[in-house]
Amino acid sequence: MTDTHAHLDFLEPEELKEAQAHLPELRAVLTLGVDPARWERTLALAQGNVYAAVGLHPTSAHLLSPEVEEALRHYARHPRVRAIGETGLDYYWTPETGPAQYRALDFQAALAEALGLPLVLHVRSRDGKAEEDLSEWLLQNRPKKAVLHAFSGHPALERAGLETGAYFSFAGPLTYKKNGALREAARRLPREKLLVETDTPFLPPEPFRGQRNRPHYVRHTLFRLAESLGVSFEEAEALTDRNAEGLFRWSL
Ligand SMILES: [Zn+2]
Repeated sequence: MTDTHAHLDFLEPEELKEAQAHLPELRAVLTLGVDPARWERTLALAQGNVYAAVGLHPTSAHLLSPEVEEALRHYARHPRVRAIGETGLDYYWTPETGPAQYRALDFQAALAEALGLPLVLHVRSRDGKAEEDLSEWLLQNRPKKAVLHAFSGHPALERAGLETGAYFSFAGPLTYKKNGALREAARRLPREKLLVETDTPFLPPEPFRGQRNRPHYVRHTLFRLAESLGVSFEEAEALTDRNAEGLFRWSL
């Protein structure tokens, strides 16, 4: 199993210990450091089968400055870094920083392109506006390797992702009873573009709703994905491991 999106640095020491004890169950984990104060810590956690991404979350986009750009360029070259992000558009928490979010997104997209790394995209809004805007951005910018993290099933985003060859990463919500439409989306998307993730410590899958997530809980999301695709757990595991390996190139 591969958890393509976790925030190990958000875990309390006891939680981290427990999460680390379960790491041997996983092929790889990508842990994302989402603001300048978290990059060092994230890289320190990227050992063994844990790899790192560094970036500026859209809710921290207002922090972008020439100094922060320079620091991000520096950390992005660390040998354990396998992706840039997460970046994107968030009008749910920080609707007022739209222009800064676009600047941070463009900067990180250019950095990912220059380094040949995947770009991890976050999107959230109350009314679907951020999803529509990000879809448009995708179609205009066409990043070579992009991941739609915690894919929600938004139709415009699905179309833009398909047209630009993005990867679709499914998190805990895939397991929620009411999300039949999301499981339908997983069924019709190209299999070679499917990934699974936890977004640890957020978005826990059933049966852990209301609790804090862990990378090894990705098993539950993978189980539902297998069921949706009509394949065995082992086949879904091999598929998503292979897709993640091809994109993030763990063994490089
Ligand atoms: Zn995240």
